[in-house]
Amino acid sequence: MNEQASAPSPQILLVEDDPQVVKFVRAALEAAGYRVLHAATGRQAMSLVAQYMPELVLLDLGLPDLDGLQLLAQIRPFYKAPVLVLSARGQERSKVDALDAGADDYLTKPFGVPELLARLRVALRHAARAASRSDDLRFECGPLQIDFQARRVTLAGEEVKLTAIEFKLLGVLAREVDKVVTQRQLLTEVWGPKSAEQSHYLRVYMTHIRRKLEPGAPWPRLFVTEAGVGYRLRTPEP
Ligand code: CA
Repeated sequence: MNEQASAPSPQILLVEDDPQVVKFVRAALEAAGYRVLHAATGRQAMSLVAQYMPELVLLDLGLPDLDGLQLLAQIRPFYKAPVLVLSARGQERSKVDALDAGADDYLTKPFGVPELLARLRVALRHAARAASRSDDLRFECGPLQIDFQARRVTLAGEEVKLTAIEFKLLGVLAREVDKVVTQRQLLTEVWGPKSAEQSHYLRVYMTHIRRKLEPGAPWPRLFVTEAGVGYRLRTPEP
């Protein structure tokens, strides 16, 4: 984990009231070279966010004083860096609500260190890219290439024809590559706010996209279904 060796290591705020989880996550983050701040309550988290503006917040949804969702709503107007939600199994609804309220991704407890660090790197990379405002006119993910200006999609160099809707849907997933995008976000961006509940549109169009862009071996799986949440375009392992 030397990729941040020259720059000051990012500071992560862990908002979590379970001492076991705090101990485990803190050790994992510090071993990976991150600086760690910790808040055990929502109120404490509020003041630490405002005071330190950490590079990323890991937010447990079940806090003793206020709901993680409430905290998210309170900090989002001034805090633009990534927020990763830590949720327990069975909190499907609040997990989706958190993503729709501006969280960047989630981890379901119990999670392992590699998964935690991978999600952190993705979120921090996204934030850095957004900050540098590079015009992403070309996109590459494994064998998949998108030229947004020419509206051209190729798979291992072969052009694949997509309809306008398919292209738009792929574009949203590509913009958020490696991050989960909720059904509501996809439906709103591609079909408009009136279609936010029409999740069957997504099932149909994701099937089309997969048929065209994931024809099977030797191509890796690119599109991951996050059951009950949404979809993720995933960079294949090198
Ligand atoms: Ca908790």
